[in-house]
Amino acid sequence: MVIAVAALQSSTALQGPPAGSTTTSSLPERTDDARRSEYLIAGFESCRDGLIVLDDERRCVDLNRAARELLHTPEVQLLGRKLEEFAPPGLRTRVVEGWAAFLREGFSSGVFATFSDDGSRGVVEFTGSARVAAGYHLLAVRDIITSPTRQPTRRTMSVLLDRSDDAVSVCSLDGFLLSWNRGAERLFGYTAEEAIGKPVAMLLPPEERARPPIEWEQAWRGEEVPTYEATRVTKDGRSVVVAVSLSTIADQSGRPTAVAAIARDVTEQKRAQATLAAAHAKAVETSQLKSQFVANMNHELRTPLNGVIGISRLLEDTELDHQQREYVHALRSSGEGLMAVVEAILDFSAIEAGNLAVAEAPYDVRTLVEEVCSVVALAAGGSTVEVLAYVEPEVPAILQGDEQRVRQVLTNLAGNAVKFSREGDVFVNAAVLERAGLEPVLRLEVIDNGIGIDPSVQEAIFESFVQADGSMSRRFGGSGLGLAIAKELVTAMGGEIGVDSAPGEGSTFWFTLPLGDSDVTPPAPLHMELGDLRVLVVDTKATSRQLLVRHLESAMMRVEEAETHADALRVMRAAVQDGDPFALAIIDQHPLAVATLDAADLTHAMVTDPALRTTRTMILAAPADGPILAAAVDTDTLVIKPVGGIRLRSEIARVIGNGSGNQAADAHNPALPGSAGRVLVAEDNPVNQLVTIRLLELRGFQVDVANNGLEAVEMHAERPYDAIFMDCQMPEMDGYDATREIRRGEDALRHTPIIAMTASTLPGDSQRSIAAGMDYHMGKPIRPAGLDYIINQAIRPPEES
Ligand code: ADP
Repeated sequence: MVIAVAALQSSTALQGPPAGSTTTSSLPERTDDARRSEYLIAGFESCRDGLIVLDDERRCVDLNRAARELLHTPEVQLLGRKLEEFAPPGLRTRVVEGWAAFLREGFSSGVFATFSDDGSRGVVEFTGSARVAAGYHLLAVRDIITSPTRQPTRRTMSVLLDRSDDAVSVCSLDGFLLSWNRGAERLFGYTAEEAIGKPVAMLLPPEERARPPIEWEQAWRGEEVPTYEATRVTKDGRSVVVAVSLSTIADQSGRPTAVAAIARDVTEQKRAQATLAAAHAKAVETSQLKSQFVANMNHELRTPLNGVIGISRLLEDTELDHQQREYVHALRSSGEGLMAVVEAILDFSAIEAGNLAVAEAPYDVRTLVEEVCSVVALAAGGSTVEVLAYVEPEVPAILQGDEQRVRQVLTNLAGNAVKFSREGDVFVNAAVLERAGLEPVLRLEVIDNGIGIDPSVQEAIFESFVQADGSMSRRFGGSGLGLAIAKELVTAMGGEIGVDSAPGEGSTFWFTLPLGDSDVTPPAPLHMELGDLRVLVVDTKATSRQLLVRHLESAMMRVEEAETHADALRVMRAAVQDGDPFALAIIDQHPLAVATLDAADLTHAMVTDPALRTTRTMILAAPADGPILAAAVDTDTLVIKPVGGIRLRSEIARVIGNGSGNQAADAHNPALPGSAGRVLVAEDNPVNQLVTIRLLELRGFQVDVANNGLEAVEMHAERPYDAIFMDCQMPEMDGYDATREIRRGEDALRHTPIIAMTASTLPGDSQRSIAAGMDYHMGKPIRPAGLDYIINQAIRPPEES
């Protein structure tokens, strides 16, 4: 059974051959020109296009081989049937209407048909027609999906399309369905008989039916339409989401004649996507809650601990007897120990939550290295291990990066080095590492001559909770988190970390950091006023002696070395005789427990020799020996090790009488009260208030205090301040809101520098402060060096800084 169809498009232009042309077909009566007829008959039969001859009543009176093949129906079943009978019932009226228009106006192309035989459907196009003789008309039929000459392909194609799971349909340019495969029947619920001839708009949701979708209009105009998703309505009123791709079908001249649509049901996929999106949103929300919780804990845990540490630091700067000093020291180191554990756990959970933030700010790596070494040496307590530090001169003065994080990694490595060494030195070195073809990097090394690490575990110790030797952990303590966190931090800062070690031969832990935008000019030598000063270094140990010499020489001093007590006296006396006595002898007193040189003897010999009275003395002592030496030795100054270049120079400047290095930062020489200006500290925690006030007073500031943001806003309105130090987390009104409020009240002429202070270490902290209108961001606990830097930037006018 064949159904062929035609939907005639009456709007097409008149383009057929002129009516009344002499073309004939195999009609019963032949023309006189029998020979010509033979040609025409042969031509008709062998034409590649299918040709159908219809009479005025639309009855099929003849058709050629191509048409018979295309329609897959024996000729006898076609002859005498009316054109509309080739069409499915839904299209018949349109065929009749189209025919009438054709008779009225003539007709060129744009007729489509679906047909089926043995269950398959396809789409053919009826193009061109002419009135071939009085009462007869010629239609050309062609397969619009595949070439008419490749019947097997066309058949396969139509079967494939029909069987396709996707809904395949063809629609006329005026919006009527011409073809409808089984996939379409399944997806939309309409059978082919129900769908064909109906407006395709019935598939649209009711509210969209008034106007054809923009994609359809594009396809009708012949424009390319990218695959899109849309909602369609099935026969039983269900909404389905479909991915649609539209292709325009054009005639030989390229004019659009119909549009084929392939629609795929993506409702399930969409639902799965929506479920996934909801799950993702939920996960993000949960993770935000988690980081909020961590942030809260962060603040709650660190605030009181900062208080304990800060207050014990202040207490250490007061008059204390020896025992009190020891108690306070124990108090502070316990606080710092607890802080280290809290920080390790907080860091670890921040890394776990993917919350690791790295700040970018200028910092002074020399100060950092010295401070880290001091902290580590102090923490080592009675250990005989000495910590030495050297920053190569070519390392830039100010680096860009996350000072806190660098400090944390270096403290961990240096702390481990001391912990896993019994005696000897731990040497911290910073240098610029240049490698061919790569950007130069900062390389920080911590070298110890301790127990060393077996090569088989050298990689594993950078993983969480791993310790090289389980039995060691009992002996040395530790969480096994330190190196894992260090690795995460260094990686986050764009560097690398590693170790070179052999059991029994000590270890060198190193890490690199990109120098990035740091100003690569090395710092100008400090304390030029010390240049030419003649200094003797008395030190039995070559490593530390040479290091001291390097430090002093880089400050342009004239340095000589002595290894023993006797050498020292000999060299100093000779210098006096030459008329160029030493201004200073620096005596490195190694831990008394292992020392071969006794500084007390030497200084005693110097004091009793009138020739050496002009030579000042400085003893460098291990932290544990400080109190004993202070009581027993007659010296101009006693400096607790470790000493780096910066501290060494300022101590020398002090003892020589050229003033101290950095007055503002010097707790023992407070600047004149109020001389530096007037600042406001907005801080709710009384302990933090005390620490911040004291640090600022030591720097010569007059300090007013606000207990919350609201008070800060009011006080700022009452009088001008040189700066406001604003805690971010406060009751009543937090630092962010207070800053916004303050900025609202200011104009271009009045801008008070506001420095954010926060104990939180979450990503985006500093951006949040800046967004609220603050100028600088400072982490807690406040470090004197960091505070000095901020004061210089924020408060001192450029010419004074
Ligand atoms: P912990 O808190 O246990 O010290 P780390 O992650 O810092 O954790 O170190 C992991 C392990 O690596 C240590 O337990 C120790 O076995 C080994 N280790 C680290 N540094 C050194 C070192 N300088 N010398 C010898 N072993 C070390």
